[in-house]
Amino acid sequence: MINLRNVRKFYGALEVIKGVDITVEDGEFAVFVGPSGCGKSTLLRMIAGLEGIDEGDLILNGKRINDVPPDKRGIAMVFQSYALYPHMSVAENIGFSLSLKKVPEAEIRRQVEAVAEILQLTDYLDRRPAALSGGQRQRVAIGRAIIKKPALILFDEPLSNLDSALRVQMRAELQRLHRELKATVVYVTHDQVEAMTMADRIVVLNKGVVAQQGAPMDLYHQPDNEFVATFIGSPK
Ligand code: ADP
Ligand code: MG
Repeated sequence: MINLRNVRKFYGALEVIKGVDITVEDGEFAVFVGPSGCGKSTLLRMIAGLEGIDEGDLILNGKRINDVPPDKRGIAMVFQSYALYPHMSVAENIGFSLSLKKVPEAEIRRQVEAVAEILQLTDYLDRRPAALSGGQRQRVAIGRAIIKKPALILFDEPLSNLDSALRVQMRAELQRLHRELKATVVYVTHDQVEAMTMADRIVVLNKGVVAQQGAPMDLYHQPDNEFVATFIGSPK
């Protein structure tokens, strides 16, 4: 579904993505994992179209989309900071993109309720974000992304602001959501445990290059290099 071919990105003279080749198959839960500063967010923002690509090709379903604007890519992104509209209710936050598209009120309500059901937000639809817990706010942010029925959802460290018990619960919920939506997911984290437990495919990044990509157990048992061995946690 997604192909990055020899993709490079510079910030000024600093090369932060150094010619990466990555493949994600249709329907996969792919995790990009690596230490802070290795380029995970930059890669995700390039896929979403929020950052330009300096060199190489970004292919989505066989089409080069380097120059396609973000809103024409059919991709949704969920950020670490939920960025909800504080003056709007949960229902209005989730339905916002539909109201921009002038979808009739009753139809918006129907779709918002369907999304709220999936995310266990049915009882909170009339609240403002300030009256929600961290986990509930993150669910609203996810709701805003999935109501557009994207074929591809990008998550940038969506659970890193949550406490550890909630993080474990939300991991399971996100996997369930992935199965239900039948969407392709690219999920970015610096947390190896999160990567190992959630991924169909892991892409390990280090200093702007792909250290290794493959199934979690293949990386664990057959790390290609010292970095992957140390980072994923199996002695080589
Ligand atoms: P990660 O998400 O893996 O922590 P990032 O993609 O945010 O890494 O950053 C990769 C590198 O690019 C880092 O060295 C970071 O300092 C640098 N960087 C990110 N955004 C910018 C920017 N807008 N301008 C200059 N440098 C940036
Ligand atoms: Mg980041």
